[in-house]
Amino acid sequence: MKGAFQIAKIAGIPVRLHWTFVVMLGWVAIEGRRSGMNWESVGWFAVLMIGVFVCVVLHELGHAFSAKRYGVRTKDIILSPLGGVARLDGLPEKPIDESVVAFAGPLVNILLAGIFGGYGWMTSSIDLSNLGASRLVFGNPENFVTLFLIINIFLSFFNLIPAFPMDGGRIFRSLLSPSLGRRRATLITTYLGQGIAVLLVGLACFLVPPRMSFYLIPLFILSSAFMFFMARQEYRIVEFEEILKRHSILELIRQPINIFNKNDHIAYALEALKTGLEKDFLVKNEDGTIAGVFSQPEILEMAKSIPTSSHKKHFVEEFISPVEEVVYPSDTLHIFYKKLMSQELRILPVFENENLIGVVDIQQLNDFLRVEYEMK
Ligand SMILES: [Zn+2]
Repeated sequence: MKGAFQIAKIAGIPVRLHWTFVVMLGWVAIEGRRSGMNWESVGWFAVLMIGVFVCVVLHELGHAFSAKRYGVRTKDIILSPLGGVARLDGLPEKPIDESVVAFAGPLVNILLAGIFGGYGWMTSSIDLSNLGASRLVFGNPENFVTLFLIINIFLSFFNLIPAFPMDGGRIFRSLLSPSLGRRRATLITTYLGQGIAVLLVGLACFLVPPRMSFYLIPLFILSSAFMFFMARQEYRIVEFEEILKRHSILELIRQPINIFNKNDHIAYALEALKTGLEKDFLVKNEDGTIAGVFSQPEILEMAKSIPTSSHKKHFVEEFISPVEEVVYPSDTLHIFYKKLMSQELRILPVFENENLIGVVDIQQLNDFLRVEYEMK
């Protein structure tokens, strides 16, 4: 993801911070100072915000670790001011497994709420009387136990709302899926989500006190609008996957026109891209085996970074992406798509009994889908 930089790696999963998160921390400091907070309070508030995001990371790790149990890899966890996302490499096939993965996130927050609540109860440090007063937030670090209890209760409830893109939406869908089928279950969850989004805006208009409505109402409308469109998006994804599952890789397989050798000059690759029909290419080793692939974005990137005069001094081999997983004639387009995305490639070779029988690239897939959608 563009604009996100890695801050940690937990159990092999990179945790990345989106730059807007840093901007938000800066904004909090400036706003705090402007409204008369001293630096110490600003510092505590920053600690609080970071604490919230630690809770969010733990929530996402809940998803990541449970997904791992079903053999689903997590690419990374991204934190932005809107929250966290664990980017999973797909979903477990069985609905019940999907709901376990979806529930593992909120479960972490329920456990954290239990820990903070239990600790607060034992040390009698929970003080709800100041709730809502600004001094609870800014003034006193002793209130952190109460705050983190509330924050984790909020995070678990919020994420369990039965609407996409929340975890609750996924849980709700996987409960409906076995009896209704994935497509109808998604559609119903979509409608429910859109209903909840509208309801939230309505509730906000009634419940938010007038002096806060200037900030809160637009925030509610924005997040509800986001929910509204994400709900639709989720249905599109299921529809898209169903189309791909119905078709075989053999419907798109083609013979490559141009195959590079790994010691071809990059001038040759650039020429092929400029004058040929293909945008994505296979690259072979000297013995004829596949060395990797070379695609339009990388070819253009490379052409920009190396002066034209040196194009005959560099070789294709320096820029190719390796292929870890190929496709087979028995694969559906859905499997092709998943293999393509998980390797971040644009073309894959098709093998039958260890022999290369053709290729399929993303351009073909896009053209195919365009026709499928037009015909609907
Ligand atoms: Zn979650």
